[in-house]
Amino acid sequence: MKYTCPHCNEKTFTPLQKALAGSMKSVGKPCPNCGRKCCNGMAAIYFDCIITIIMFIAIMIIYFKADSSVKMQSVLLMAIIIIARFILSFLFRMFFGKLVQPIRVMK
Ligand SMILES: [Zn+2]
Repeated sequence: MKYTCPHCNEKTFTPLQKALAGSMKSVGKPCPNCGRKCCNGMAAIYFDCIITIIMFIAIMIIYFKADSSVKMQSVLLMAIIIIARFILSFLFRMFFGKLVQPIRVMK
């Protein structure tokens, strides 16, 4: 399974390369075929936004519900949530959304 480059329309990006290509705010990754830069489209930004909100809500709930007796567990749980947010974001970029041309494509 490969993703299509928005410049040359060849299937050149593997899911891992796509995940590492960054969002539209980044400079993107060059296509192995045509050398022009590609990045993840708006879907990745929306998804990041949604899971970041969920992450903050979850952390807030843990923060206000936890008393001192479970402090270590709640800190650990918050760390897991933050790590999970990055993993989910990465997996989303690997398997969902399209490659597009970055906004900052020209110098
Ligand atoms: Zn290309």
